[in-house]
Amino acid sequence: MRADLLIKSGEVVIPGQGLWPADVAISDGKVAALLEAGTSVEARRVVDASGRLVLPGVIDAHTHLTLGPGGDGYESETRSAAIGGVTTSLSYLLDSGDLTEVVQRDIDAGGGRGCGDYGLHPALVTDDQLAAFPDTMDKLGIPSFKFFMTFRGEEGAYMGIPGNDDGFLFRLLRMVAGLPGSLPCVHAENVEIIWALGPEAQRDGDGTIRDWDASRPDFVEAEATRRVLYMAEAAGAPIYVVHITCRAALEAVREAKARRPAMVFGETCVHYLSLTCDTAPSPMGKVNPPLRHADDVEALWEGVADGTIDVVGSDHVCRKLASKEGDIWKATSGFPGVATLVPVFLSEGTRRGLDVASLVDKMTSAPAAIFGLAPRKGSLMPGADGDVTIVDPEARKVIRAADLGSFSDYSPYEGRQVGYTASHTILRGQVIAEDGAYVGKPGVGDYVPRTRTGVR
Ligand SMILES: [Zn+2]
Repeated sequence: MRADLLIKSGEVVIPGQGLWPADVAISDGKVAALLEAGTSVEARRVVDASGRLVLPGVIDAHTHLTLGPGGDGYESETRSAAIGGVTTSLSYLLDSGDLTEVVQRDIDAGGGRGCGDYGLHPALVTDDQLAAFPDTMDKLGIPSFKFFMTFRGEEGAYMGIPGNDDGFLFRLLRMVAGLPGSLPCVHAENVEIIWALGPEAQRDGDGTIRDWDASRPDFVEAEATRRVLYMAEAAGAPIYVVHITCRAALEAVREAKARRPAMVFGETCVHYLSLTCDTAPSPMGKVNPPLRHADDVEALWEGVADGTIDVVGSDHVCRKLASKEGDIWKATSGFPGVATLVPVFLSEGTRRGLDVASLVDKMTSAPAAIFGLAPRKGSLMPGADGDVTIVDPEARKVIRAADLGSFSDYSPYEGRQVGYTASHTILRGQVIAEDGAYVGKPGVGDYVPRTRTGVR
C-alpha cells in the first residue's frame, strides 16, 4: 500500500472505547486506512509515534477566536490551537446585524489564512436573526447558535446587543423544535439576581475573584439552567448548556438528561475542572460564569465520568493581560485556553483515574456528532479528514504563555507542569505543529461548513 503519511507504532485512541496499537495511513488529506501495527506501507512521510497516543484531531467546541485580535484571530488563534493539539475550533460570534452578513464576514475573515480549521456559532439576538436562521443554517453550514439569558435590558448594550426576555427565548426554542438538526447553546445565568448581588459583593468583598463568584454565585446559574431546561422541554427543543461550572447546575442537567435522553447536552470548560476562585490568580482568573470552589470541581469530574458532561472545551478568549489590570470589577472576563485544553484536561482526568479514551471522546467524537462535524471530523474512520493529534503521556512540560503562539500574552496555567502535550498536530494529512512549534503554512486551515447536528 502507498500513502502520503504513515503514523506508525503508536496507540490509537478510539474515542469512548479504548486503545488499539495500530498504524494510520493518510492519503489525499483523508484517513486511508487503520492498519495492523507494522504493516508494510510505502509512505512519503513517516511519523514514529512510539510510546505516544494517536487521537483523532481534537475539536475545541467553545472558543472566541476574535475577542482580542479581531479577524487576525483566525490566523493567530488557530495557530495557538495547533500548537496545543487542536485541529478544529468552533468560535462564537456576537453581532446584532444581518445574520447572513455577520456569518459571511467571518467566513471571509478567516478563509484562506487559518492555521487550523474553524467553524462558527453566531448568537441569535434579534427577531430578524431568528427569521434568517433556517436559511443560514443550510446555506452557510451553521446548525448551532448561542443565546445569552443574561442579555436583559441594557446588559448587552456594550456589545451593541438589544435586550431580550423569556418570550424571545421561548420563540427561539419553538423555532428549534420545528427545525430538526438545529441546536441552541445557552449561557444560563439569572442577571436580575446578579444586579441585586453585585453591589453587595463590591461593598463587602476583598477585591478578588472570590467577589466575582459572590456577585453571581452557583444558584444564579443553576436557577437559569433549570428554567431554560424546563422551557426547552415545554417547547420540545433540544438544548446544549454551555460552560456548566457548579454542582447545582450540573444536577439540573443530570435530571433533565434522565428525562429527555439525546435532547439535553452538557458542556464544561477545562478551567472549571482545574481552577477555583480560591486558588487561581486574581483578577486574571475572572471569567463568566465565575470559577467556583473545590466541591464544584469534584462534582464536575463526576459529571465527566457519568456522561452528564458531553463536551469539554476551553472558552478561549485571547485579549492581552493589560485588559485584566486594575480592580476585579473593571477587568475583562475570560482568558486564553485553546492551547492548554488537551494537556490540562488529559493530565487532570487521568490523574483522577478516568480512562483516556472516555476523556478524548469529550474533545473529539462527542462534539463532532453534536455539532454536525461528523463523520468528517472527530474520528479516524477511513474517509474522515486526516486530522490527528499525537500526544506524549509521559513527557512533562511546564506551561509558558510565551510558547503558546497566541495574540494573548498570559495563561492562568503559567508554570503548571503537565503531561499529554502534543508532539504532532496533523491537519488533513499535513503536519502543522511539531513539539510545540507551528510548522504549517497559514492558509492550510479553513472554514468548515457543518451539516445538521446529530441531535434527533
Ligand atoms: Zn464563551
